[in-house]
Amino acid sequence: MTPDKNNGFGTRAVHLGRGFAGNTGAVMPPVYMTSTFKSGNADGFDYTRSGNPNFRLLQESVASLEGATRATCFASGVSAITAVVSTLKSNDLVIAEENVYGCTYRLFDRVFGKFGLKVRYLDLSQPANWEEIRKASPALVLLESPTNPLLKVVDIAGICKVAADVKVPVLVDNTFASPYLQRPLELGATLSLSSTTKYINGHSDCLGGIVATNDPEWQDKMIFAQKALGLQPSPFDAWLTTRGQRTLALRMERHSANALELARWMETLKGVKSVRYPFLPSHPQHELARRQMKAGSGLFTAILNCPAEAALAFCRRLQLFTLAESLGGVESLICHPPTMTHASVPAAVRRSVGIDDGLLRFSVGIEDAEDLRRDIDEALREIL
Ligand SMILES: *Cc1c(COP(=O)(O)O)cnc(C)c1O
Repeated sequence: MTPDKNNGFGTRAVHLGRGFAGNTGAVMPPVYMTSTFKSGNADGFDYTRSGNPNFRLLQESVASLEGATRATCFASGVSAITAVVSTLKSNDLVIAEENVYGCTYRLFDRVFGKFGLKVRYLDLSQPANWEEIRKASPALVLLESPTNPLLKVVDIAGICKVAADVKVPVLVDNTFASPYLQRPLELGATLSLSSTTKYINGHSDCLGGIVATNDPEWQDKMIFAQKALGLQPSPFDAWLTTRGQRTLALRMERHSANALELARWMETLKGVKSVRYPFLPSHPQHELARRQMKAGSGLFTAILNCPAEAALAFCRRLQLFTLAESLGGVESLICHPPTMTHASVPAAVRRSVGIDDGLLRFSVGIEDAEDLRRDIDEALREIL
C-alpha cells in the first residue's frame, strides 16, 4: 500500500520512503552506495550527483510531510539555501527577515554579495514592513519562523498574501518548527526549506537539507542546482535521514511537551529574568504561534539574571544538556549565544537586538522532563 493524503502524518512518515527493495522482500530499503548506474536502466538513474534511490525515497517522504508534491535533497541546510539563492542573478533583490540564521546571513554577505546580489533585511514580524515587498517587488522573500535565537514568530500567511499580489516567491526556512508543527506551503509559501540535520533526522548523526515545493518550475531549478553545483548528500546520509523522519511525529510531541513544561517552570524562578517560548502566553506573538503552529517545538530561551561568565558556568555544570551548537536531536543541548553563535557580533549590537549576556538557548530533547528539570535546578543553585 502506498499511503496518500488521506493517511495521517505518522502513517505517511512510516510507510513512505520504503521502495527499491528489488525482489528481496526487505521491509526497509538498502543503502545504494554507488556513484554511477548502468546506462538505460528502467528507473532512469545515471550518476549519483543527479539522483540516487536513497535521494528519491527521502524526497518522496519529506515532500508528503510538507504537504508538497515534490522535494529535492541536499548535503546540508546551507547547501539547500545555496541551491535556492543560486537561481537569482546579479542586481536581483532579496528581502529577508532581519533575524535569519547566521550562516544564511554570511552566505549573502561573503559569497553572493560578490556576485552583485542585493539583500535588504527587515523586521517581518511588523506588518507595516510588508509594504516594502509590494513596493520593491524583490526576486525573493526569505523568512524563518520561529527565528534564531529569540524565537520571534512571523506571520507566514500574511506575508505570502502580500507577496502573491506582486508575484514574488517566498522561501520559508522551516527548520525550527519541522513539518510536523508547521507547513509553510499550506500557508502560501512557494518553497519550504529545512536543515534536515535538525528535527527531520533528529539524531545528530548526519547533515542534510531539503527544499519542498508544489511548483514544477522551482522543482526543475532545484534538481538542476543539485547536479550543477554538486550539492547532493551521500546516499548513506539520505538513508539515515529517511530513517530519522519515520519517528518525527512521536519525537516532536515529546520535544514540545518537555520544552513547554521546562519553560513554564523556569518562568517562575527567581534569578531568571525572562523566558521565551511561542506556546507560553507571555510570548509576544503567542496568538499567532497558536494559529500557525501545532505546538512550540523543543526550543526555548531564558535570560538568567547574571553576567556572561556565570551563564556559561551554568551551562558547563549541566549534566544532561551538552554545551554545543545545533538543535533538534533526541539529546538535550544548550547554547550560550553571546559567547558562541553570536560572539562575532559587537556587544552593544548584541544587546540592542535582545541578545542579553545571560541569554541561553535550550534545545530540549526527548529525555524524561523530571530529570531535565532536576539538572537545571541543581546547576542554577550552584551559580545563583
Ligand atoms: C542549522 C540551520 C541551517 C543550516 O543547516 P546545516 O545543515 O547546518 O547546513 C539553516 N537554517 C536554520 C534555521 C538552521 O537551524
